[in-house]
Amino acid sequence: MTDSALPTVRDVVDALDRRYPRDWAEEWDRVGPVLGDFDGVVSRVLCVVDCVPETVDEALAVGADLIVAHHPLLLKPVSSIAPDTFKGRIIHRLIRAGVALYSAHTNADTANPGVSDALAARLGLSDLRPLVPATGAAAGGGRGLGRIGTLAEPLSLAAFAESAAGRLPATAAGVRAAGDPRGTIRTVAVCGGAGDSFLSAAAAAGVDAYLCADLRHHPAGDHLAGGGPALLDVAHWASERPWLDDVGAWLGDTFGIAVQVSDVDTDPWTVHAANPTTSKEPSQ
Ligand SMILES: [Zn+2]
Repeated sequence: MTDSALPTVRDVVDALDRRYPRDWAEEWDRVGPVLGDFDGVVSRVLCVVDCVPETVDEALAVGADLIVAHHPLLLKPVSSIAPDTFKGRIIHRLIRAGVALYSAHTNADTANPGVSDALAARLGLSDLRPLVPATGAAAGGGRGLGRIGTLAEPLSLAAFAESAAGRLPATAAGVRAAGDPRGTIRTVAVCGGAGDSFLSAAAAAGVDAYLCADLRHHPAGDHLAGGGPALLDVAHWASERPWLDDVGAWLGDTFGIAVQVSDVDTDPWTVHAANPTTSKEPSQ
């Protein structure tokens, strides 16, 4: 700690690395500190899902010294960070402003509590356990990808979709569901972010519904045709935004510093339209 009792970037990075060890991340992932002066002082943190120009604007506006992001800025290798590239501009702006950047991605998904715990809690699920228990360095401790939980009261699929849409942060895309609208939903598997790689795990778990983001026509159709649980497809950003409250509260408690959570909707989908003659709305 510095003489002002404020933590340095290194102090916060070390604490984040203990809560979300980097070796808990998937092998393809790139997590941890991205840029910033480790000796810089941190008085204010901004937590975001995506480090994009809009959230960089927000960080600068609120005077953040550190951005904690869920998605890596540089997941794929780059050969240039010239300021005429999208990511290069972000990097130049952050370094010029003295703002550090840290990413906790699949290591935060795997952690307990992790990204899907926050999503499940937001949806009113309890008695949580991993959908895909962790192996290797992260094994044990209730860690793993996705969560399975139980609703306090069973709902129809249509009613659960309505509930999810009301409980999750508002987005243009909203929530869409697949399956019998009147089917009873009590046990639910969830996965923050893209979840189609866990369709078979959700089916094997025997849950009534599986909620995640970025589902596609063929995997979803094949899953339902095979007798798998009902599906709910939500906006990617909305599925991960609840975790920001968790990591933000923990950072505030740990360091006694100001922490802000971004509500800038970084979901790329900004318009939702339905043909007015479409009448698939079921009665509940
Ligand atoms: Zn994600």
